[in-house]
Amino acid sequence: MNFIKQDNMPRYVSSNEHQGSPTKMAFGRKVISAHSHVGYLEPWAFYESKELISPMDPAPETTEELLSFMNARGIEKSLVMPNYGVPKQEQPFSHNQLIVQMAREGKGRIAGALWVSGLAQNAERNETAFRMLDEPGIRALKMSYLLGGTPNPKKWDLETLQLHEKILKEARERDIPIHFHTGSGGSSDITEYFELIKRYGKENKIHLVHMGGGTSGHIRLITHWKDLIEGGYQIYVDSSWAIGFGPRKLLQEIDKTGVGVDRFLFGCDEPWSDFESEFWKIQGVNVSDEIKERVFWGNAEEQYFS
Ligand SMILES: [Zn+2]
Repeated sequence: MNFIKQDNMPRYVSSNEHQGSPTKMAFGRKVISAHSHVGYLEPWAFYESKELISPMDPAPETTEELLSFMNARGIEKSLVMPNYGVPKQEQPFSHNQLIVQMAREGKGRIAGALWVSGLAQNAERNETAFRMLDEPGIRALKMSYLLGGTPNPKKWDLETLQLHEKILKEARERDIPIHFHTGSGGSSDITEYFELIKRYGKENKIHLVHMGGGTSGHIRLITHWKDLIEGGYQIYVDSSWAIGFGPRKLLQEIDKTGVGVDRFLFGCDEPWSDFESEFWKIQGVNVSDEIKERVFWGNAEEQYFS
């Protein structure tokens, strides 16, 4: 880049000069992230792109890289899961071994969520994942219907039902949550999850990633929050990708009623989202500091690190 140097102007620094350890930032409070991704994701011709592209920064591929990122942001502990986003069923499964390795090498700072799928074609891959479930630090399962299928049990055929029941049973036996991607519209819409919650949510811990997914998802989730939790359903949320009003409103409700104070967790969802904006989304909300302590680390400590 050509650059005419002037006094008082900041010097342009090319991205090459930034490479190495991540920029250190101070956030001034204890944080545990209950949702971020690790592992290589190949470039892909996403949407109308004619070229192969990687829309986000690379995710950590080694424990050292992950810890270096965590140290730079002051993240004390992280629950990590496979990176995904390209339409290949085997891709996220291929990172389960890396999750096990990171949880093992993380010396108590890293917990892992293993990838499983409700699609019949992945039955064998699920079995391989189940065999890793009792490895140290493996504390959750992760599912997303972005790669096909639906969370709505009313739409499952017998094979799909059996596959899901196996996944739910493995999680239940270990009392670990299943993280489910939510997003507005299509099979990830929260309305598709309500039947799953109704059927399995009393026995299984169901973590709704992205707080229901978008405006309608947040509104519906907040509408049902109190009834679901008081009704004995074990639902959890993280505020990654959530639109400002959603976490603000839900945290204010929790501050008022105390209902679900142990169910709201902080997740940075790096490298797809960014730690900085996710942090301030919670930090900027006008609720008691006790609630923020729970959200920023207390609930995750209880769920994934004790
Ligand atoms: Zn994510």
